[in-house]
Amino acid sequence: MQCKKCSAKLEVQRQCRRVFMRCTGCNRVYQIHEVAGDLDPETEKILEKYTVIIYD
Ligand SMILES: [Zn+2]
Repeated sequence: MQCKKCSAKLEVQRQCRRVFMRCTGCNRVYQIHEVAGDLDPETEKILEKYTVIIYD
């Protein structure tokens, strides 16, 4: 996943029970629903893992 602003890499982050994406370049935070249409397979895999943790 790339940031729409600066094209740096987005990282999946978890805080309490919420998961979001944070840009490693400009630190912009994206909610998952904001980027849901652009998720790449790698990110989807990571999110699947988090979903298991959250809803376990
Ligand atoms: Zn950025």
